[in-house]
Amino acid sequence: MLIDTHCHLDAAEFDADRDRVVDAAIAAGVGLIVVPAVDAGNFATVRALAHSRPGIAYALGIHPMYVDRARDDDLASLGREVEAAIADPRFVGIGEIGLDHFVPGLDRDRQLRFFEAQLALAAEFGLPVILHLRRAQDAILKQLRRYRPPGGIAHSFNGSAQQAGQFVDLGFALGFGGAMTFDRALRIRGLAASLPARALVVETDAPDIPPAWLAGGRNEPAETARICAELAALRGESPEAVRAQTGANALRVLPRLAGVAPLA
Ligand code: ZN
Repeated sequence: MLIDTHCHLDAAEFDADRDRVVDAAIAAGVGLIVVPAVDAGNFATVRALAHSRPGIAYALGIHPMYVDRARDDDLASLGREVEAAIADPRFVGIGEIGLDHFVPGLDRDRQLRFFEAQLALAAEFGLPVILHLRRAQDAILKQLRRYRPPGGIAHSFNGSAQQAGQFVDLGFALGFGGAMTFDRALRIRGLAASLPARALVVETDAPDIPPAWLAGGRNEPAETARICAELAALRGESPEAVRAQTGANALRVLPRLAGVAPLA
């Protein structure tokens, strides 16, 4: 099944035409869309969105780029929200969480404290995590080894082949999306072509990271289909095979996704 494993469908960029965007994803063959939260202010929004129509799943977490704006007690409210969401089949994990060592001016100590607390929560509830890991792969791997959440997805993966192997060993799949579609993205394209098939999932990160063919325009979950075809071309495999494999991988690393009815 074609699964967009990372889509900010709740973003304001979709307020004017969100239903049409989901219909276009269905027309493109997308079966499921995973919507991670970014801060406590949108926990209720992503949950409501997932309940608004079939095929939309959600994760709850505080994104590293939102940590500076978050309050300390947002971690406590995340804990309460997660406990309540365990009974909700559309809830699939903790995310989007991680570390961002690329954006200047972020408080790295505070990022780390929020990341550790959320990894501990994931481990406590046995939930997978959806990771944001820009320029911070090794720092994140170190914390994964300490807290041992049961795997998940390393979103927008841009590390080395060796780091990729370490994430896979810890139960993670690696997310590939728009960045892979640029000819100049030689390292990401090399990884997409050469990593073991069971390590890969596809994603859009819509409305961000538009693929090359959108020329900087708004990204949408429907683009998952062409992103998957691009991945298949890089690997010399059929789009159908890559669709099936990446879908199976997403269900393996986000097991609760198996309980979500497909888009309709
Ligand atoms: Zn994201």
